[in-house]
Amino acid sequence: MKETLQAILDEASEKIEQSDALDKLNDVRVNFLGKKGQLTSVLKGMKDVAPEDRPKVGQMVNEARAKIETMMEETKTRLEKELREAKMAAEVIDVTLPAKKANVGHRHPNTIALEEVERIFIGMGYEVVEGPEVEYADYNFTKLNIPEDHPARDEQDTFFITDSILLRSQTSPVQARTMEQGKLPIRMIAPGRVFRSDEVDATHSPSFHQIEGLVIDKHITFADLKGTLEEFAKELFGPETKTKFRPHHFPFTEPSAEVDVSCFKCGGKGCRFCKGSGWIEILGCGMVHPHVLEMCGIDPEEYTGFAFGVGLERIALLKYEIDDMRLLYENDYRFLKQF
Ligand SMILES: [Zn+2]
Repeated sequence: MKETLQAILDEASEKIEQSDALDKLNDVRVNFLGKKGQLTSVLKGMKDVAPEDRPKVGQMVNEARAKIETMMEETKTRLEKELREAKMAAEVIDVTLPAKKANVGHRHPNTIALEEVERIFIGMGYEVVEGPEVEYADYNFTKLNIPEDHPARDEQDTFFITDSILLRSQTSPVQARTMEQGKLPIRMIAPGRVFRSDEVDATHSPSFHQIEGLVIDKHITFADLKGTLEEFAKELFGPETKTKFRPHHFPFTEPSAEVDVSCFKCGGKGCRFCKGSGWIEILGCGMVHPHVLEMCGIDPEEYTGFAFGVGLERIALLKYEIDDMRLLYENDYRFLKQF
């Protein structure tokens, strides 16, 4: 019996020593200490042992079991340590390596100009409203007092999707949409992309941006319009800026005007920038035509209002002294990173 146990112990010791992974060690445990393990079968053979020898044999088996368990525990600890060290070595971080450089983008000059305009009008209590770029001809023209066969439809030739749906040629349809909702008073600007079937040149593009403005309330007069736009020009181009209103015609406003600001480059003396005139045209505006109010469900006897439209690119070109509009769309990094 003693020899059998010693043989088991030797074999277990050898197997444990050969175990180079935790699962192999577990196999050894099953093989020797498990329910059908070698040591267990020795215990099962106790019935053949003489009764007086049983305590002694039992003690020997227990000692053998304890030895095997100790050896296994030691090996397990060693294997786990090795595993941890290998893992640490594999995951080593070289803190001296240069970090990946984060590419931080920045805003496009159009966006900077838009945010500036929005800041000014939000400061005056305006809301920023957006509308669809694909628009009904009805909103783009008819509701703005430009019926079919009106020559203004030619001036704003755009891209038609069907006879009644088009890419909006102006941001003014957002006016009609807002008025139709019937929540009065209205004080809003509507920035967005617009489309015209224009050839690309230094001052034209088939796609550009406008910022529409609309105020509707009781007792709104041309004086409110003038004061608002004067304040806007001073905020945008500096406190010395003067404004000039020239009579003009737009189908959806009456009376209408175009607004020039004194050249912020030469202060109005005349220079290359303002083509010698001392003035630079920046926007169109006027009092909302009573017929437009009526078509949008507002009583023109009770309410009046004014509207204006600014070309966003025009603001960006002027403010950042860019002489070719195409630069704004070409996505040339060398150009864009200057802003
Ligand atoms: Zn000038």
